[in-house]
Amino acid sequence: MAKAGLKVALIERGSYPGAKNVMGGVIYRQALDEQFPNVWEDAPLERYIIEQRYWILSRDSNISISHRSEKFTKKPYNRFTVLRAKFDAWYAKQAEEAGAYLITKTVVKDIISCDGQVIGVSTDRPDGDIFADVVILCDGANSLLAEKIGLRSKIKTKNLALAVKEIIHMPRGKIEDRFNLESDEGATIDIYGKVARGMQSTGFIYTNKDSLSVGIGVVLSDLVKYRAKPYELLEEMKNHPVIRRIIAGGEPREYLAHMIPEGG
Ligand SMILES: Cc1cc2nc3c(=O)[nH]c(=O)nc-3n(C[C@H](O)[C@H](O)[C@H](O)COP(=O)(O)OP(=O)(O)OC[C@H]3O[C@@H](n4cnc5c(N)ncnc54)[C@H](O)[C@@H]3O)c2cc1C
Repeated sequence: MAKAGLKVALIERGSYPGAKNVMGGVIYRQALDEQFPNVWEDAPLERYIIEQRYWILSRDSNISISHRSEKFTKKPYNRFTVLRAKFDAWYAKQAEEAGAYLITKTVVKDIISCDGQVIGVSTDRPDGDIFADVVILCDGANSLLAEKIGLRSKIKTKNLALAVKEIIHMPRGKIEDRFNLESDEGATIDIYGKVARGMQSTGFIYTNKDSLSVGIGVVLSDLVKYRAKPYELLEEMKNHPVIRRIIAGGEPREYLAHMIPEGG
């Protein structure tokens, strides 16, 4: 919008863009092509993915299907792993360079309307009202603002997953040996089957430059029904005989959790 000449204010409650965001995270190049055709040249990407594995677990075994292509080792690549704390900060900077005005550490508290039309937002800053012709709500899976103004009804727990993730530090060389990669090549493993005591869930292991993103997302209604704690499920997944070996020697550095909208 800023590139198109509009005056844009971008409001973020975190201390910087990326501070509050969680993703596995694999990003598809095609989604960025229009704005950033050579995204790998500037963006803080972790690895370009050349192999995608699918594991279906039983209690003590797994079935594995994978796809690796030489095509993905070359530009323009296909998919990338990212760490949102770094990627989102860069992404917001691109918006700023195009002319958007970034306001951080600011929570939008409400929508300001007049005669049935949205004309701005109020924030938690003193004199923090901001007026605009158009307000775009992009406050994530749990948009309380969309609910508040009736754009969306309360989201059902069966349509939400709670995902937890650890960033596990591992030296570059070890990652490359273990996943059969060279330099900045990456691999992803999506994990199904007996991964969360049979609840509706997906696990993942993604390679970053010198860490692995290891996580699990479980449908919220199942967590409630079975009174399961997501961090216990992640521990159980990490201790599965097949997974234990692939993350062995890694050192957990960060723990993150977030909701994901599921089910349309
Ligand atoms: C563990 C996990 C793994 C995932 N893996 C992948 C993956 O590999 N690939 C993929 O494509 N997707 C993945 N997803 C989904 C992806 O993360 C989300 O779809 C994406 O982050 C949604 O983006 P968003 O901008 O809508 O919301 P968010 O990323 O949640 O951004 C919302 C922003 O709004 C801010 N905000 C919220 N409320 C307010 C307020 N009132 N005032 C001011 N600011 C506010 C927040 O601080 C935040 O920065 C994953 C999600 C999780 C949790």
